[in-house]
Amino acid sequence: MSRYIATSAIRGANNIVRETDAYLQKALKEKGADTKVGFPNTAYFLPTIMGFMGRKVETIGDLIPVMDHIKALLHPIPADSKWVPYLGETLDSGVATLLAEETLMALHFLYGDQPEKMDGFQLAQTSGESSNGGGHLNGPIDDIQLRSWGIQLVDGRMPGFAAIVGCAKSNEVAVKIVRELQRRNILIFLAGNVNGRSIIHQLQEEGVEMGYDTFIVPFGTDTLSAIYAIGFATRSALTFGGMKGGQSREILLYNKARVFAFVLALGEVDDLKYATAAGAISYGFPAIADTVIPEIHPTGVTSYEHVVSMPFNEIPGKDDLERAEKLVQRCIEVRGVKIKMTEVPIPVPYGSAFEGEVVRKADLRGEMGGKKSRCFEYLYSAPMEKVEDGKVTVLGPDLDSIPDGGFMDMGIVAEVAGRKMQEDFEPVLERQIHHFVNGASGIQHVGQRDITWIRVSKAAFEKGFRLGDIGKILHARYHADFGAIVDKIQVTIYTNPADVGTMLQVARDAYHKRNVRLGDMADESVQEFYSCTLCQSFAPNHVCVISPERIGLCGAYSWLDCKASFQINPTGPNQPIPKKQIIDPVKGYFSGSNEFLYANSHQQFDTVSMYSIMENPMTACGCFECIVMVIPEANGVMILSREDTSMSPAGMTFSTLAGMAGGGLQTPGVMGVGKYYLTSKKFLSADGGFKRVVWMSSILKTTMAEEFRQAAEFAGDPELLDKIADEKVCTEVPDLVAFLEAKSHPALTMDPMM
Ligand code: SF4
Ligand code: ZN
Repeated sequence: MSRYIATSAIRGANNIVRETDAYLQKALKEKGADTKVGFPNTAYFLPTIMGFMGRKVETIGDLIPVMDHIKALLHPIPADSKWVPYLGETLDSGVATLLAEETLMALHFLYGDQPEKMDGFQLAQTSGESSNGGGHLNGPIDDIQLRSWGIQLVDGRMPGFAAIVGCAKSNEVAVKIVRELQRRNILIFLAGNVNGRSIIHQLQEEGVEMGYDTFIVPFGTDTLSAIYAIGFATRSALTFGGMKGGQSREILLYNKARVFAFVLALGEVDDLKYATAAGAISYGFPAIADTVIPEIHPTGVTSYEHVVSMPFNEIPGKDDLERAEKLVQRCIEVRGVKIKMTEVPIPVPYGSAFEGEVVRKADLRGEMGGKKSRCFEYLYSAPMEKVEDGKVTVLGPDLDSIPDGGFMDMGIVAEVAGRKMQEDFEPVLERQIHHFVNGASGIQHVGQRDITWIRVSKAAFEKGFRLGDIGKILHARYHADFGAIVDKIQVTIYTNPADVGTMLQVARDAYHKRNVRLGDMADESVQEFYSCTLCQSFAPNHVCVISPERIGLCGAYSWLDCKASFQINPTGPNQPIPKKQIIDPVKGYFSGSNEFLYANSHQQFDTVSMYSIMENPMTACGCFECIVMVIPEANGVMILSREDTSMSPAGMTFSTLAGMAGGGLQTPGVMGVGKYYLTSKKFLSADGGFKRVVWMSSILKTTMAEEFRQAAEFAGDPELLDKIADEKVCTEVPDLVAFLEAKSHPALTMDPMM
């Protein structure tokens, strides 16, 4: 244990605690103990405090016992003459620092002077589409975003996060560091500064797009904002790990074991940064500095180093870019997680972090599809001897043939062969084209099938990107991700309008056949359902039972996806569940699914109804696209979408409700579902089906209008959709009931739900 670090961290902790205490006294005097405090859009109160202490801080007064606890954790700054190198004191100081930082931040929110708002810094409005909203530093991550990253965090596609604090040697180095992290799909949280200059300024100056979509989250240009990274880590454990506030040891262990994260300190490290890093160490997050600082080697908190010094200029390498790359590599080595990366041989950077990129009109080199031209993608299985692996053919003109900002027709036809390939897997594989192509930097892919729309930026074109590279991407990714079912793949890109027309017809016939087959597929027509237990790494007792008519609650796994996934990985999270004996066909009780649930929920649950919300509904992890909840007064259910932040008739917003519904529990009357289950014939079929829906978020009504129209018809009430309220109509139960009565909603006269 370094005496220097311990002294700095203890001093940093004492200072921040003093500052926080003074602010708290001021707030108590000026605003009073009953004034509310909290962060926006979260159901976890002040999450780090909630995690460590189990306290739900809602008012300034609630902060008083927190402050007492923080003070008790402090230690005196060691005198020069006397020194006992003791890790415990440093770690205590670190925890005190985190709790104080969160308290201070909450008080800043109360006064509207939180640092990310006050430092006068504005992000350029680079992207109107950015979910960051453009223009503002991010502040804390809201629950919705946390959950929507959920599955990627669970299945390892997103290994974890890097909290970068400070300022890089140069803008060029700053960009290189984030690109290296993006390439590995590591979330990037930015905070802090050195002498007023932050990596956020550097990236901003270089035109790097920041926001949720690009995995780069600029918290604020001060050190205090780094607390949001800790709040994020704590909430991961609470949201996905099924942990409760106050289980601090479990939360820390969970983070150490499952959340791959580290702190990268760029530039000079001051007392507050040492103190904050000491807090991060408790979570198992090591700190790597690009300056000369003392190191802390494994001590028992983790088996890896806690603090690593890697002075930037001493990193071997031919230039700063190579040094930056090695710095990132070292960070990953220290934290010790193997990251799977697929090399894709194209002239632009490639990785999931680029999936959210938008190609704007001013940057557009050329586009295929959209309003001005036709574009489609079609994947089908062919016999082994018909497919030459890796062959990519572009038939017709390439992007060079059109002017800047121009458009052209295109058809992407992929033929795959494999001993385990089945026709059923075609749509599963075809749907991946969207993710695969989007991973290329400077390429934007929207839609699927014959509504595909691909835009290529000028920058990508200048780096040499041409249409054939789409084929190379598909070849590399299908082998990497679906090697168990795809042995060979060849890709033909058609751009002559006449060929595009011909092939489009072939593709449309195939889409139609698939639709018919999928439409015919009913739960009764198969012998087995599939499980998904992917979310157990976060919600240990949760099991999704997925049937042809009930998609996984995150919306990402259909029955066919699971079937394919089982072929790819026979010991993986998607296992066949033989239905066995039908116990109750109406409520959807099968001996096979009950047994499977019992064996795989750690004996927590032994019965699951596939078609009822009232009796033994399916467990929910936290990733659900929508929440369905009974409104007893209306004798029906409301459906709240994840995208909807408004109030609902249940008296709660999505994030508050999600906190109740998640965690791998069965909650009669409340269910997390995938949105395509809403339009299934088996949606609440035991409880009266789609006619039970009395309220739903308007975004669902608009984005799924056609599907709901069909569901309403199937329910025998074609006008049903007009009788369903939304947040624009009402958010209170009495108003809802009045609306339903005025519209003669069928739920009012159906059998009582309760
Ligand atoms: Fe998680 Fe269920 Fe989605 Fe699987 S299907 S990833 S268990 S929510
Ligand atoms: Zn989940």
